[in-house]
Amino acid sequence: MIPFDWQPEPRIPVATRRPENLVIIGSGPSAWTAAIYAARANLRPVVYEGEPSREMIPGGQLMYTTEVENYPGFVHGVTGPTLMETLKEQALRFGTRVEQENIASVDLSSHPFRLKPSYSEDLQALAVIVATGARANWLGIPNEERLAQMGGGVSACAVCDGALPAFRDKVLAVVGGGDSAMEEALYLTKFAREVRLIHRRDQFRASKIMADRVVKHPKIKIIWNTRVTEVLGYDVITGIRLEDTVTHAMSEMPVNGLFVAIGHTPNTAFLDGQVDLTPHGYIKTPKAWRTATNVDGVFAAGDVMDDYYRQAITAAGTGCMAALEAERWLAHHGLGESPVLETAEAPVRAGGD
Ligand code: NAP
Repeated sequence: MIPFDWQPEPRIPVATRRPENLVIIGSGPSAWTAAIYAARANLRPVVYEGEPSREMIPGGQLMYTTEVENYPGFVHGVTGPTLMETLKEQALRFGTRVEQENIASVDLSSHPFRLKPSYSEDLQALAVIVATGARANWLGIPNEERLAQMGGGVSACAVCDGALPAFRDKVLAVVGGGDSAMEEALYLTKFAREVRLIHRRDQFRASKIMADRVVKHPKIKIIWNTRVTEVLGYDVITGIRLEDTVTHAMSEMPVNGLFVAIGHTPNTAFLDGQVDLTPHGYIKTPKAWRTATNVDGVFAAGDVMDDYYRQAITAAGTGCMAALEAERWLAHHGLGESPVLETAEAPVRAGGD
């Protein structure tokens, strides 16, 4: 029961509220690893883990992965979602606070930085780690997006949708020639009658081991040198229109599902050009072996800054690096609380020597 003299807590204006020491934006292996390190250094980090959307769910790309066999420490592998839950639990154990919101925009032009969550009030931060990962790309062809949005049999995530009754014992198409496409095709063989893997060239970009598994799989048929130009169907997919990339001959193929697996785009739009990016939109970290960006006090970790390794373990590694760098940066500026790190070397400034 609410006591009769109860008063609502006064709303403290953003300008007078104490800034957060460290805000971590994201919820993949890099974000949780950064949170584990920062929380253990008494920085009381807050993680903005994001909201579910069609292309991304909190936890990042590993939430769309079945078995992860190459993350050290798991002899028999671990599922992506289990790995993410475990990392999050470890971060929570040391006092990490979690907000289930996106950061919609940022103002990094003055310090403390100002961050705008999707729904709640703005907050201020002394240091920021951007660990927002990357999201699935779409082909951009007629009916693709509409049918994906209405659950009409088009998806960018076999692990999320492959087990749905609509796809069971049906003919399904997967587009792409990288490891994601191999993984999606192999995963779908658990449910589908047949999987047709459509690739625009005559060789895969995927690792040999994954490609070999696909080539040898009796349920997978590979269709080389072919582009999907249109998804057919009104409420639900009935087929796809194809173009031979060599002869340019057009054809139609009846399928009951289309899974698009053609790579990812880094989630950097919310930064609105305030942090330097590479031509492909990844955050630049100008110094080798450092996660500092061109904005002093802003660090980047995981797939949002890594277009080369893109592995869960390298994301976790850069998350650790970003937390240590943020901690040193805060201590160096008299903002941190770690007695050990007050004696630490001055942090490297991305823009400096
Ligand atoms: P990726 O390696 O960039 O491959 C994207 C594929 O999609 C390429 O084959 C590309 O064709 C094709 N593609 C791109 N745009 C297209 C379009 N508009 N129309 C038709 N095809 C298009 O992306 P990824 O497969 O998502 O892999 C990303 C990284 O994650 C890689 O480093 C990969 O090794 C890693 N990964 C690892 C695992 C694992 O180890 N289990 C699983 C998934 C991903 P082209 O080849 O012609 O360019």
